Formats: sequence, structure tokens, C-alpha cells
Amino acid sequence: MTMIWIVEDEERISAVLTAYLTQAGFATRSFTDGQNIPAAAAAELPDLILLDLMLPGLDGIEICRQIRRSLTIPIVMLTARVEEIDRLVGLELGADDYICKPFSPREVVARVKAVLRRSTTSTATATTSLGKRCCHAGIELDHDRYEARLHQHLLDLTPREFKLLGILMENPGRVYSREQLMQHLYHEDIHSSDRMIDTHVKNLRKKLASIQPEQEFIQALYGIGYKFNMGD
Ligand code: CA
Repeated sequence: MTMIWIVEDEERISAVLTAYLTQAGFATRSFTDGQNIPAAAAAELPDLILLDLMLPGLDGIEICRQIRRSLTIPIVMLTARVEEIDRLVGLELGADDYICKPFSPREVVARVKAVLRRSTTSTATATTSLGKRCCHAGIELDHDRYEARLHQHLLDLTPREFKLLGILMENPGRVYSREQLMQHLYHEDIHSSDRMIDTHVKNLRKKLASIQPEQEFIQALYGIGYKFNMGD
């Protein structure tokens, strides 16, 4: 059974989310304090975490940061104001989605399903096309293991960064507009700001540059979009 963690200190919200997610067939566990979440997540590996921003103990930003250092568990952040979403995206936390309060529980369930579908689609595609690998310019994407390596160094990518790199690498040199990348990455989640693409690209570049700083793997074309650059 798919396990969703609800990390939310407002018990009324937490109870509503629990009810809707349970009805949608998910197992849930709720927490009202952030303190032990990173360690507990690493130990128990839930399938997805709904994470409130303002929490006692440890706030959502710090929890997301700590989890992302070592894990790719999908994280959906819950925030109180739409302006906070821009700030969170700017912080490059690597969350997979953001939902603004007040939300309808139905919307949350739909977004949870969408994020889970995306994070498992890659795995499912990989199992049907056994041994599916993509390799360009020293980067190897292993869709079976959901692992990306640059010159044998394992890259610590979020599910969405992995997918974005996969899209760009599928057709090296082809230019994708932000809108096209948005559609590939977010499907029906029209709410997501297309600045998220820039943030994902920025994070990907940083991770690639930590291993091979001299090469610009992902090239921006001003006013058009991005492409994977094979180099020479
Ligand atoms: Ca709160």
C-alpha cells in the first residue's frame, strides 16, 4: 500500500487530508512536529511526504533540505500564501510540487496522485523496456535503477530532475521551450509556475558542474528554452 506522510501541525487540516487520502486508497501517517521527520523518513521511506511549511520543531524548508541531501522521496509542500511559492522555488529546495493553502482536499489528492504517477512512470517504463539506458557526453541514465551518473559519479537527483535530464538527453541538440518541458514534467498541473523549470535546470547544472565544471551540458537559449549540449 502506498504510504503518504502528512506533516502538518494544524490537526484539523491533517484530519481532513487523512480522511481524503484514506478514501482514495492510501495508507497515511500524520505528524504534528517536524523535529524527527528527516531521520524517520530515511528509516521508513514513505512513498510521498505532504509537508507543511510552518511547523514546530523543524520547519518545512529545513526538513526538505535535509531529506533531499540523501533521498528522492517525492515531497509536496503545503504553503499558506501564493507568494511563498515563488520564494520556495527560489530556495531550490527540490520539492516536487507546491500547493497553496487554502486548498480543496480533492485537489491535494489529485496532485498527490499526479506526483506519484510521475515518479513511478519512469520506474515502470524502465521495467517494461528492460535495461533502458541513455548515455551521452559522459552522462549515463539508468531508468531501471533510476540512477544518473556522470563519469561513474552518482548524481543525487530529485525524481523531477532525473526526468528533465532524461527528456533533454533523449534528443540531444533539440531545443525545448519551457512550456514543452512543463508539459512533460507536470502534465495537468497547470498551477505550477514555469519558473520551476528554470529552478530545476539550475539545480541540475549545479550538480553536473560539481563533477565536471568546465562543460555546459544544459544550454539556455535566451527567450526560447533549453537543450542538451553534447559538447565536442
Ligand atoms: Ca503549520
